[in-house]
Amino acid sequence: MTRKERLNTTCSDTFDLVIIGGGITGAGVLLEASKKGYKTLLIEKGDFSSGTSSKSAKLVHGGLRYLQFFYFKLVRESLVERNYLLETYPHIVKPLEFIFPLYQSSFKFRMAMILYQMMGRHDIMPNYSFANKEKTLHKLNAVNSENLKGSFSYYDGITNDSRLTTEIILEAKEYTNAAALNYFELINSKQSDSHYTLNCLDHLNNNHVEIKTRYVVNCGGPWTDKILDCLVPESEHSMAPSKGIHLVFSQNRIPMKSAYAFSSYANDKRMFYALPWEHNSVIIGVTDTEYNGDPDNIEVNQNDINYVLHGINRFLPDLNVTEDDILYEFAGLRPLFKEKTASQDKTRDFKIWWNNNRVISLAGGKLTTFRAMAKALTLKLKDKLEIKPAEKIGHSNINKTIPDSVSPEKIKHIKNKYGNKDIYLFNLIHQNPELGNWLDEEFQILNVEIAFFIKHQDSFYVDDILNRRLALGYILNKHPKNKIIKEKVRQILEQYKELVNNER
Ligand SMILES: Cc1cc2nc3c(=O)[nH]c(=O)nc-3n(C[C@H](O)[C@H](O)[C@H](O)COP(=O)(O)OP(=O)(O)OC[C@H]3O[C@@H](n4cnc5c(N)ncnc54)[C@H](O)[C@@H]3O)c2cc1C
Repeated sequence: MTRKERLNTTCSDTFDLVIIGGGITGAGVLLEASKKGYKTLLIEKGDFSSGTSSKSAKLVHGGLRYLQFFYFKLVRESLVERNYLLETYPHIVKPLEFIFPLYQSSFKFRMAMILYQMMGRHDIMPNYSFANKEKTLHKLNAVNSENLKGSFSYYDGITNDSRLTTEIILEAKEYTNAAALNYFELINSKQSDSHYTLNCLDHLNNNHVEIKTRYVVNCGGPWTDKILDCLVPESEHSMAPSKGIHLVFSQNRIPMKSAYAFSSYANDKRMFYALPWEHNSVIIGVTDTEYNGDPDNIEVNQNDINYVLHGINRFLPDLNVTEDDILYEFAGLRPLFKEKTASQDKTRDFKIWWNNNRVISLAGGKLTTFRAMAKALTLKLKDKLEIKPAEKIGHSNINKTIPDSVSPEKIKHIKNKYGNKDIYLFNLIHQNPELGNWLDEEFQILNVEIAFFIKHQDSFYVDDILNRRLALGYILNKHPKNKIIKEKVRQILEQYKELVNNER
């Protein structure tokens, strides 16, 4: 359905559910609700995933470190979800080796490894293993060798958080009863006996739009309290977010093919992760500090940078990494609840609670557990909303064959990156064979990917494409091709403007 059509039905219909927040939690609820046949609309004030769900550490994991707090249920549930995501979205969620260098007795770690492996499934990931000091240094000789005893290696999942979110939204939109609008903000609301009227601002044309819905699901992550202020002003605030930042480097500067876990080398004894990621980058973080400010104004400050650089240089002393080596930095807010414990010890469990008889909030949890969270939410609705047969949009108008002009290399690239959504890209190439050309061969990006993001994933700005759908923005700022690539993306956006204005 085009954006225009979506807006028309948005104004005329009464929805069963409107979800506020287009991060991974809202996306998961949209998908589960769609499968239940509920007439559902998701609205997001910025780009999909532009909140926390593009600022995570990108791990799809059980959370090895939570074992020290005895959060066995959380770890088990997360491992089940990790395995499901690895199997269902293999083009976005991939296994990655994690290396844990040891500077003290290995007993505690070996126990944790055994438990973690037992709680996950042995058949889906390679077993954990131990390497002595020589083998550890052979893999990465820049590692601090003082008192090094060896290292454990184990496997977990890694993803592109933003692309996972937009893929889940697209999957949901394949049901006729589901719709999603980005750049569409809840401003305030009115409650009547039978429904809620939501007053929203369409940021793309500055129009105010009223939407009617029987129930509202608040999936605002760190914005949960702010959204409640627009829906149920008298409700108690319950969130106490914590800030986490990451720094991004080139693998040419910090060469690594596996992920590494290492100490912050500060009094807090926090663990950092260094992850080899897309476009030859390495992402290193994450910090954990209390945050009481406005979630819209979160930023990386000098203390954050110094703290992470200090840890990196103690762990990799020969590399002398400096601030000049940073290609990109990003900050996110963990949607945690008010509790007396420090945020590092706080459980990553989620909560679902009714704010009145028509508004329900779902917050907390992790990127990894979004499906479990969404299932639990829809279970709470089963007495309120009747489950209806859900109808999937047939792809009858889509040419599912692979165009002859596309080389085997490009077919492989599209299939590996987009999984069963490849038909959308092949169909776009059928319509315009030039889209099958590389936008940039070095970065392995085809023109058709940009067109796909515009037509099927609601990208309106260069930033939506480069910083979220592609995460190329992470390494581009200091790259000689920065201007050229931005210009090429802008040109495709321009070329598809008609489509943006008239069709979507
Ligand atoms: C630093 C960090 C590292 C993390 N690492 C991991 C990890 O490795 N693995 C893992 O599993 N989890 C991780 N997490 C947790 C995970 O990222 C979050 O739990 C998850 O992304 C939260 O998603 P969400 O949809 O609830 O919130 P968000 O993604 O923040 O979505 C809420 C959305 O609501 C929108 N919104 C706000 N107000 C309005 C309004 N008035 N109208 C419309 N929309 C509105 C916002 O723009 C936002 O996009 C990490 C979190 C952080 C902060």
